[in-house]
Amino acid sequence: MEGPLRPPVLAIPPGVRPTIVCPDWCTEGYDAHVADLGQWEGLVIHRSTEGPVWHSRVAYPDGTPDQTEEPLIQVTHPRAEDGMTIEQARELLEALSAAIEEASR
Ligand SMILES: [Zn+2]
Repeated sequence: MEGPLRPPVLAIPPGVRPTIVCPDWCTEGYDAHVADLGQWEGLVIHRSTEGPVWHSRVAYPDGTPDQTEEPLIQVTHPRAEDGMTIEQARELLEALSAAIEEASR
C-alpha cells in the first residue's frame, strides 16, 4: 500500500545542530549523518570508507549501536572480482582483518 511519506521520527528544528557521536574510524561527515536522521528514522550510519575494505554500523546519534543491525563489511578492492596477485591478496587479507577488528569493537 502506497501511503504518504513518513516524517522523520527525530525531527530537528531549523537551525539546531544535533549532537552525533562517531566512532573514531568513521569517515562520514557530520552533514551526511544529519541527512541520515530523516532517512533512517532517527538513526545514523557510521562508515569507514578508506582503503580496499569498507565497513559500516547503524547507531543512535549518541553512538549506541542499533542491536537489530549487524555491522557490515564490504570488499571494494578493485581486483576483488578479477583475481589478484598473492601480494595483493595479502594486502587485502590485512585490510580485511583490520576492518573486522575495528567493526567488532
Ligand atoms: Zn559517524
